[in-house]
Amino acid sequence: MYDVAIIGAGVIGALTARELSRYNLKCVVLEKENDVAMGTSKANSAIVHAGFDAKEGSKKAYFNVKGSEMMEKVASELGVKYIRNGSLVLAFDDDDMKTVEELYGRGVKNGVKGLFILSREELLKVEPNIGDDAVGALHATTGAIICPYGLAIAAMGNAMDNGCELKTNFPVKNIEKGEGKYILSSENETVEATFVVNAAGLFADEINKKLEDSDFSTHPRKGEYFVMDKAQGSLVKSTVFVTPSAKGKGILVSPTVDGNLLLGPTADDIEDKTDIETTDEGAAKIRSQAMRSVKGIDMRKVITSFAGLRAVGNTGDFEITAKDNYVAAMGIESPGLSASPAIAEHIAELLFNMGLKKEENKNFNPVRRPMDFFKTLSKEEKNALIKERPSYGRIVCRCEEITEGEIIDALTLNPRAKDLDGVKRRTRSGMGRCQGGFCSPSVTELIAKISGVAYEDVTKTGEGSGINFERTKGGVKNA
Ligand SMILES: Cc1cc2nc3c(=O)[nH]c(=O)nc-3n(C[C@H](O)[C@H](O)[C@H](O)COP(=O)(O)OP(=O)(O)OC[C@H]3O[C@@H](n4cnc5c(N)ncnc54)[C@H](O)[C@@H]3O)c2cc1C
Repeated sequence: MYDVAIIGAGVIGALTARELSRYNLKCVVLEKENDVAMGTSKANSAIVHAGFDAKEGSKKAYFNVKGSEMMEKVASELGVKYIRNGSLVLAFDDDDMKTVEELYGRGVKNGVKGLFILSREELLKVEPNIGDDAVGALHATTGAIICPYGLAIAAMGNAMDNGCELKTNFPVKNIEKGEGKYILSSENETVEATFVVNAAGLFADEINKKLEDSDFSTHPRKGEYFVMDKAQGSLVKSTVFVTPSAKGKGILVSPTVDGNLLLGPTADDIEDKTDIETTDEGAAKIRSQAMRSVKGIDMRKVITSFAGLRAVGNTGDFEITAKDNYVAAMGIESPGLSASPAIAEHIAELLFNMGLKKEENKNFNPVRRPMDFFKTLSKEEKNALIKERPSYGRIVCRCEEITEGEIIDALTLNPRAKDLDGVKRRTRSGMGRCQGGFCSPSVTELIAKISGVAYEDVTKTGEGSGINFERTKGGVKNA
């Protein structure tokens, strides 16, 4: 019997698990996929928004500003890449300039510090490559960028290091309320817990309906992106937005924490909560809008594309409810990543208010070694480590210069990677210019060796994503 069962290992579930691991509690996170951060938390713009966008008085505004203030410390404790690069909202005409003024006013009311309205001349001093049509901008100096899946992985890993359990491949299909407990089951397994947190992202409304008669629902709004080669990564330092529309913040151009350039997202309402295909129409939209904002974008330098799904709620705001030992975090669309540390803290408070025992875990360690720690070492430190563990001296991914030692760490430290994409999200091997063309066979070999699965059975991203179909020598797979 667990004290708390958390459904979903995105940023909300993982940071809540970490928050609860500060206390002596038996907690478990139930995740339907085979890894952490497999939903919206792996595919978004990765911006820690300053907090000027959401309407004053909304939960989005409150948790965004608070979360953004908390994020630098959380990222530093968890060793997650975070850069306070500032953001700009470009204006292309007088109407846009009025919107910029409105956003400035809203930001001030929301308590955002470091906001400035810039003329074109001032804007060019901040970002010399801004497009010729821009006439001014809002500058938010507290805006930042982060590695979003890195945050979820590190938070879950830290929670596990501090005693929390993670059960992957556990799609919660049913929840029943028993005598003083909840019974949560997948097709194969059942878990009992006194308290339940629903952090199931886009699917949180469906889980909620199993427990409550609720009108709250979410639908997916797709956002497509291009990732550009690092050669384009220094075109801008800040995150460059355009003025927002009713559907979102428009197409942005932003450096990533790893030195690439990100273009996107589109905003298209769809019905299928699993449709993350990219489209020709999306690509055309991104190209034209991004090139208007920033000069020098070379579309031949695109190295990959992806799409993520916003969990758009029917109330227009985050829906965070607490009743009967059950907390639901629903409709956590943008700025949910920015808000996530504050939402996690709030969820823990709601649980304690409902009677969850609050006894400090004296052994709680908030710190986790950065995933890219090897790169941060001096030459002498690297040499000493290579002597101790020679695998750190063998480069496996040439584009991103990732060593065998780092891949072994990804396969052995909490939460362990199980497939190629899991290793990629933890180490960046396969995220460079060749997109895994060179390193995939070696990474596959390491996964097979360390996880004890057959080479032929290693997958790209969970069940049904086999990459090896036939042996070139020695017959057909599993023959
Ligand atoms: C295009 C786009 C751009 C965005 N840009 C930003 C941004 O720049 N800044 C920002 O602050 N926010 C941004 N967001 C929003 C942000 O990404 C989300 O608010 C955040 O990731 C939500 O996290 P979550 O944990 O609620 O959901 P998720 O990350 O989706 O996690 C939910 C988890 O629950 C699991 N799950 C679902 N059903 C079940 C079940 N039945 N049983 C077990 N597990 C289950 C899923 O597999 C998933 O792992 C963006 C979102 C999108 C789509």
